[in-house]
Amino acid sequence: MRKRSQVIIVGGGPVGVGLAVDLGLRGISCTLVERRVGMHKIPKGQNLAQRTLERFYFWGCVEELRAQRMLPPEVPVSGVTAYKSLMSEYWHAFAGREAVNEFYFQKNDRLPQYLLENVLRRKAATLPLVEAHFGWVVQSVEQDAAGVRVAIAHEAGDGAHVVLEGDYVVGCDGGHSIVREQAGIKRESADFDQVMMLAVFRSRQLSEGLRRFPMQSTYRVLHPDLNGYWQFFGRIDPEEGWFFHAPVPSDTTRDNFDFAALLHKVAGFKFACEFDHVGFWDLRVAVAERYRAGRVFIAGDAAHSHPPYGGFGLNNGLEDVANLGWKLAAHLNGWGGEDLLNSYDEERRPVFKEIGDDR
Ligand SMILES: Cc1cc2nc3c(=O)[nH]c(=O)nc-3n(C[C@H](O)[C@H](O)[C@H](O)COP(=O)(O)OP(=O)(O)OC[C@H]3O[C@@H](n4cnc5c(N)ncnc54)[C@H](O)[C@@H]3O)c2cc1C
Repeated sequence: MRKRSQVIIVGGGPVGVGLAVDLGLRGISCTLVERRVGMHKIPKGQNLAQRTLERFYFWGCVEELRAQRMLPPEVPVSGVTAYKSLMSEYWHAFAGREAVNEFYFQKNDRLPQYLLENVLRRKAATLPLVEAHFGWVVQSVEQDAAGVRVAIAHEAGDGAHVVLEGDYVVGCDGGHSIVREQAGIKRESADFDQVMMLAVFRSRQLSEGLRRFPMQSTYRVLHPDLNGYWQFFGRIDPEEGWFFHAPVPSDTTRDNFDFAALLHKVAGFKFACEFDHVGFWDLRVAVAERYRAGRVFIAGDAAHSHPPYGGFGLNNGLEDVANLGWKLAAHLNGWGGEDLLNSYDEERRPVFKEIGDDR
């Protein structure tokens, strides 16, 4: 294991691995530390903006990314909104991000985040300056005038410990970021006190029942009782893969709630389904008060969290990468000064603040 790198990246989700690829291609040595060895299986982060595809183009892996798409190319990323249930006579197929494709160099796309992460991991593995350690957990982060020290331990519990050294550390370690916490960076947070459910399931009968609509990626229901929250079906594949989001009462558990009955009510008809996963997430918007503390930077969900509505989390995180990567490289190569490094916070923080304030 290399003991010293120019940049240590904590967290190997899409933002951390994206940053490793960006820096590795710019000739900057980096060490990436990620707790997970495998992929999570939740089909989140699907709605990829045009800019995200542009990033992949410049990283040299946009075709590999598009090849992972699970829906046929003619299925739009957008969806249908119906009133009260998907069997209602009041519905509208709305234009999604594809409506602005002609303004960009790359078209938008849609695929599960775990497939995108696989493409990034494979790209990172081709870059000699990127050293990635999966199955390791960051335990502490320290900095002084000479650099940063990041203590890591092997997740397997065999007692293996290493202290990595670097010039800078970037926390891409998600909403519960240890890097943000240890750098003393606080967050402004708006909590909506609303528990949301996420079900991942398979059902051919649901796919059959929705044949009344042109094939779409998402099918949403608006109901006056929901005070503006969506009930939301999304396709994973064309045949039977689905996920579903909806607000649920705060005391809901996996055992005390009839999830199938809610799905049937929203669809407007009964259908057989097999659940692969049922989980919950809190509706919250949070932005860090600053994105830099000395030699420590934060990016992605570590810096900002947004509900999945609108597809802002992953896309914004990759824009953080695009903003920070070249600036760190410029500084480490001796021609970018402190003002350039500070401009990362100055440019990226207001973008997310504005998105959060528009909630
Ligand atoms: C249901 C759902 C749907 C979504 N849909 C969209 C969408 O359509 N479009 C969109 O743009 N966004 C979407 N998002 C948001 C998107 O998934 C997140 O914004 C994205 O995962 C953020 O990436 P990240 O790399 O910053 O953080 P994460 O994906 O959270 O990755 C952080 C990584 O850090 C690792 N880690 C944490 N602590 C440590 C530690 N101490 N040591 C080592 N490793 C550590 C974790 O294991 C993790 O892999 C959705 C989110 C959800 C929940």
